[in-house]
This record gives sequence, structure tokens and C-alpha cells, in this order.
Amino acid sequence: DVLPEGALELEFDNVNFSYTEEKPVLQNITFRVEPGERLGIIGRTGSGKSSLSRVLLRLYNIDSGVIRVGGIDITSMKLPALYRRVGMVTQDVQLFDGSLRDNLTLFNGEVTDAEILDTTERLGLRHWIDAQPEGLDTHLSSGGSSLSAGEAQLFALTRVFLTEPSLVILDEPSSRLDAATESLLQGAVDQLMSCSTGVIIAHRLATLEQVDKIMVLGNGRILEFGERTAL
Ligand code: ATP
Ligand code: MG
Repeated sequence: DVLPEGALELEFDNVNFSYTEEKPVLQNITFRVEPGERLGIIGRTGSGKSSLSRVLLRLYNIDSGVIRVGGIDITSMKLPALYRRVGMVTQDVQLFDGSLRDNLTLFNGEVTDAEILDTTERLGLRHWIDAQPEGLDTHLSSGGSSLSAGEAQLFALTRVFLTEPSLVILDEPSSRLDAATESLLQGAVDQLMSCSTGVIIAHRLATLEQVDKIMVLGNGRILEFGERTAL
């Protein structure tokens, strides 16, 4: 199945998941996010927030239930089709042996330099690329990363932005970013999510001023779910 362009709805229908048989990690998770809405997820460490994002990207198979994006069961899609429309941004950015260009486009030769520079400009990362002596030709190696935590997130945002995703998942770093990077990131996230549905995993409620709905997870269960203004 091929997903249409533009923001798509997200639906979890009684999803159960565990990494090992002994310990359930997500239990009876049912919720819905409308196209273009933003959902914020908060909860204590170990409550299952990142696990929820991982099963949504099919990095792990769920034990029971259904996850639908745009009304389509994600297990019925080919992975490249899923990844073309669903993007995730985490602090752990995977870098490959190759140019900065290849790392940002994931070797998609159809993306032009003009598009990359335009996107980095909008996301506030242009100055960083301009500071590299060889610009987009700068060589990055898969091993030692020369990116700070903030830069890594901006880098990952650029990479996801270039795919024009229908659904974006942002798993915030718990590490503290400086105020300048934080506001840069906030602006970039706003840009990125302006034409997609968003799921933002946050450690502080303060980061969730821009969301429509909030979910509180606890021990793998939904403790609260509702309009942000009602919580
Ligand atoms: P944090 O706020 O610290 O990022 P989280 O809410 O994202 O926490 P998860 O990473 O989803 O929490 O973890 C949920 C539970 O699953 C925890 O009990 C954790 O120990 C367990 N867990 C996470 N990853 C794995 C894994 N790869 N294998 C086995 N158990 C895991
Ligand atoms: Mg996490």
C-alpha cells in the first residue's frame, strides 16, 4: 500500500508490546491523532514513551493490536513505503561514511543542493554548514561524531524534513540544551510539523506548548489522554 501525501491520522488500537516475555512494556494502548494534530507524550523514565515510537516505526513487532497510519495497518506496508512517510528524530543520529550531503539525503541523489540549503536555512542550520570548509562535500565518518547534542537534533530534523513526511515523531533528548539551541530547535520543529501530524515525546511540559493533545504514560499504560487545554 502506498500512503498519500500530506498529514495523516495515527491510530493505536489496543496495542500490547513487550521486549521479553516477563515484562509487558505497552499495555492496551488505544488512541487517535487527527491529521495535522500534534500529540505530546510525557511520563516518567521507563514508562514506555520511546518504545511506543519504536513500534510505530516497526523497529519491533507488537504482540497484539493494530497500528494504523492514514487508515492503513502498518504491518501491511513495505518498510521503505512506511519510512518515506513517517520520520523520526532522536538525539542518536546515525551517521554514515560519506559526504554531509549523502548523510542528509541518505544517498537520495534526487534531492538537489538547493533544496538541502533551503531546508537547512529554514531550520537554522545553514550557518553550521557554511562553517564547514568543504560545505556539503564535507566528509563525515560513521564512527566519531563531531556533532553536539543540539546539532545532532537539527541535523536529524533536516534529514527528516527533506523527505516531506506525513507523520513526524520527535523523541526529545533528556540532556539539557542551551537556551539558544533550544529555541532554534523549537522553531525548526514548528516548521517541520506545520504540514504533518506530530508526536512529540517530551520530558518537560514546558516543551509541549505547541501540542493539541497530551498523553500521560505510566508503566506502559495511558494514565491520561486529552486536549492540552483540559489537562
Ligand atoms: P525515558 O524517559 O528514560 O526515555 P521511556 O519512557 O522512553 O523512558 P522506554 O525506553 O520505552 O521508556 O522503556 C520502557 C521499558 O522497556 C523500560 O522498563 C525499559 O527498561 C524497557 N526497555 C527499553 N528498551 C529495551 C530493550 N531494547 N530491551 C528490553 N527492554 C527494554
Ligand atoms: Mg525514551
